[in-house]
Amino acid sequence: MNILAIESSCDETAAAVVHNGREVCSNIISSQIDLHKLYGGVVPEIASRKHIEKINQVIEEALKEAEVTLEDIDAVAVTYGPGLVGALLVGVAEAKAIAYARHLPLIGVHHIEGHISANYIEHPDLEPPFLCLVVSGGHTHLVCVRDYGTYEILGRTRDDAAGEAYDKVARAIGLGYPGGPKIDRLAKEGDPDAIPFPRAHIADAPFDFSFSGLKSAVLNYINGCQMKGETFRPADVAASFQKAVVDVLVEHSMKAAEEYGMGRFAIAGGVASNSALRESMKKACEERNLKFYHPSPIFCTDNAAMIGAAGYYEYLAGTRHGWDLNAVPNLKLGER
Ligand code: ATP
Ligand code: MG
Ligand code: FE
Repeated sequence: MNILAIESSCDETAAAVVHNGREVCSNIISSQIDLHKLYGGVVPEIASRKHIEKINQVIEEALKEAEVTLEDIDAVAVTYGPGLVGALLVGVAEAKAIAYARHLPLIGVHHIEGHISANYIEHPDLEPPFLCLVVSGGHTHLVCVRDYGTYEILGRTRDDAAGEAYDKVARAIGLGYPGGPKIDRLAKEGDPDAIPFPRAHIADAPFDFSFSGLKSAVLNYINGCQMKGETFRPADVAASFQKAVVDVLVEHSMKAAEEYGMGRFAIAGGVASNSALRESMKKACEERNLKFYHPSPIFCTDNAAMIGAAGYYEYLAGTRHGWDLNAVPNLKLGER
């Protein structure tokens, strides 16, 4: 079964053709990063307009690279939330138009279900149940994947998402947008134990996270240095900040793995491509005899192949959306 998948929830216009949920025949991503970095972050209105300009071209390329035509497509899957409403609407309208014209089933997909499902693409052996840490630009969730499409959220961030913290700290040390990959790179030259940044724990909620205190501590450290007329080493700030984030992510994840006793642990979302997080998670999982899964970096950040993977299992579970499918900017995981 071939699914044409479309993703436009934020600043990537993406389309993919996915065969039987796990075989990626094409994966085209048109990123708007160069446009938004002029403003230090994503400008929603610009994102929507750019999606409209790019979407047909991206879909055409996805079909071409997969060496198929719309005749060979069996269903259309599209991200319908969460995300920027104007951006989501472009993908949803496009998916509806194609599905209607070609008499194909329409499957609306939750963006985070997509991120989690990215793990299926390169790991044929991975099947639910498993635990997954979702760390992206807008989400930090510890999720128990009970079955395909059945999710239990064990913990979540109380304030900033992990990726958001990376982006804000990167801006403070002058690295620009998007900050995650830049901090990842710079941290390799720094001392992760140089500055003792705080690790937040929330009483009675061992699987929840909080990153806004850490972000403030980094900003205070930088301001403090500047006020005293001292210079600070950006690489040390990056490395120490990153270690504080990774320590908490790994600690809470392993606590959940021990409590829920599942032999498999996966990570997903843009921050899952972070080299320090991948290394620490791998080590922690090995120590506990857990099988560790992570997508390749290209499937960690926003893409449509992951939407095709999630869409396939939604299709098998009977999910079909009507022509009234709408963008839902605050869609909750597990809602249909
Ligand atoms: P969401 O999926 O929650 O709606 P999003 O789609 O904007 O948000 P993703 O595309 O999953 O987020 O991920 C983007 C985030 O990942 C950004 O915050 C970016 O800084 C971060 N990121 C990307 N690569 C890395 C990296 N190597 N290290 C740390 N963070 C990274
Ligand atoms: Mg993005
Ligand atoms: Fe995302």
